[in-house]
Amino acid sequence: VKYGTRLFLGAAGILTLTTVSLLLVASRWIRHEMENALAHDLELEAHLVGTVVSGRTEEWNLVAHHLGTTVGRRVTIVDTAGNVLGDSDFDDASLQLLDNHASRPEIAAALAGSTGRARRYSESTGRMEVKVAVRAWPGVIRVSAPVAAISETIRRVQIGILVAATLALAGGLLLAILGARAVAQPVKALARAAQAVAVGGSPSLPASDVPELRELTRAFKAMHDEVENRIAELRRERGEMETLLASTAEGIIAANDRGDITVCNEAARRLLGFGSGAALPALRELFHQRDVRELVEEILLGRSVLGREVSVSGKEILITARPLPAGGAVLGLLDITELKRLEMVRRDFVANVSHELKTPLTSIVGYTETLLTDRPDAATTRQFLTTLHANARRMQRLVDDLLDLARLESGTWEPHRAVVAVADIAREAWDACAQRADGRRLRFEITAPEGLQVQADREALRQVFSNLLDNALRYTPDEGSIRVMAEPAPNAVMIAVSDTGSGIPSEHVERVFERFYRVDPARSREEGGTGLGLSIVKHIVEAHGGSVTIESTLGEGTTVRMVLPELPGA
Ligand code: ADP
Repeated sequence: VKYGTRLFLGAAGILTLTTVSLLLVASRWIRHEMENALAHDLELEAHLVGTVVSGRTEEWNLVAHHLGTTVGRRVTIVDTAGNVLGDSDFDDASLQLLDNHASRPEIAAALAGSTGRARRYSESTGRMEVKVAVRAWPGVIRVSAPVAAISETIRRVQIGILVAATLALAGGLLLAILGARAVAQPVKALARAAQAVAVGGSPSLPASDVPELRELTRAFKAMHDEVENRIAELRRERGEMETLLASTAEGIIAANDRGDITVCNEAARRLLGFGSGAALPALRELFHQRDVRELVEEILLGRSVLGREVSVSGKEILITARPLPAGGAVLGLLDITELKRLEMVRRDFVANVSHELKTPLTSIVGYTETLLTDRPDAATTRQFLTTLHANARRMQRLVDDLLDLARLESGTWEPHRAVVAVADIAREAWDACAQRADGRRLRFEITAPEGLQVQADREALRQVFSNLLDNALRYTPDEGSIRVMAEPAPNAVMIAVSDTGSGIPSEHVERVFERFYRVDPARSREEGGTGLGLSIVKHIVEAHGGSVTIESTLGEGTTVRMVLPELPGA
């Protein structure tokens, strides 16, 4: 039910109740008071009539009529036995028909000596009357008056009350409507404002004349401002948090106590192979590996995990987890695949280096011990010393290559670019190792356009040629041919070093650029190779922003192809 209706019904109810009780109480009270006043008048009049009648002896009915007319009442004269001697309302004939009045309560009381009073329906006159009887000559004088006049007065009062009540009701209705409107409109407006706030809009607050509503509006506005502030604060914190989560390289996942994922940053998505918008399963379903699932189960039971390494779909992940105070947990996932790989590379490298050094060292120690203890003849000594020298040289080459590699891999090495003629550098490199070709009837040629130049570090480029020609010399049989070819390419210079040598079995081609990778380690060592030549080439070419590839056919030959970019403006 609407507030206005309620207000009106309430007011109407109260008014009706008041009116009805007023009608009842007022009618009764007025009747009582008026009848009392009437009775009092009648008593005085009865005494008066008694005084007038006193001493008379006959013509009672005439006297009664006379006095009745004079006082304007019904006057009844009764003797001590209760017989009606005269009555202003009856003629002589009908008087004879009246019964004895001695048993009428007011007459009986008067005969007993007090003032008799009654309010009764009069059989004889057929109306409601108030009667008062007093002891007087010749027995009892009774004066009666109808109550009709009183009833009439009461009816008027009642009508007056009803009219007033109706007017009050109409006024009440009007007040209820106005009051309801004054209250209901702002309340409705406040409700609309609250709804607007609920859907994130900005509310328009109502003005009201009602102080309580003004108070409510003020309170609402204060609440809204406070909520806005808190939301802004939360939004800012959330923004910070999101940026933090997005910018950290560590994968972060938060789950609630039921195991549902509530936060998962980009790093974690990438790590676990979920796209940016892809739906995530529950934390328990996230991993398929049994050991990881068990770990997750423990984490969800509230256990802290300080860096546990697990492998998940080919990746090595370091998991750290901490329980949240309200249940659930936060997991940090660090991809250590690359770290692990590097560590393995380093271990392999150390093992390889040690292994490479061990053979020549063992041989050096052996020969020197023999020389020191056995004192062999001059020819043998010389032979030993030659071997010692060869091993020392081998170690020197290895250490040189290792130093070069270390320099290149340090990340700080930058080529000192200069404009150099490709053919010249190739020629210099060939000249340095050409004596190894003596007597082998090898063919060597350089094909390059006249004056072709490249921007490169002269020393480094010479080392590239030197390593490649070294390999070519090593793996090409007598009467074979070695060729250096250079030609301009779009924004680059293409250089190829090819031979007609033994070639590389296809399954090895992929890996020859790796450090210490050799197709035939024994042969390579025998021939003075370190297994580092091609990795040094690759490093140098890539440091120049170029690329290197190798093509080889077993038994036919090998071609190493490099592309060195031309830098604009250099
Ligand atoms: P090495 O010092 O052993 O030559 P490299 O890194 O230069 O080391 O070469 C790695 C391996 O690649 C060699 O051991 C060899 O097996 C193979 N290789 C390199 N160049 C040639 C080539 N021109 N012909 C045949 N095999 C080659």
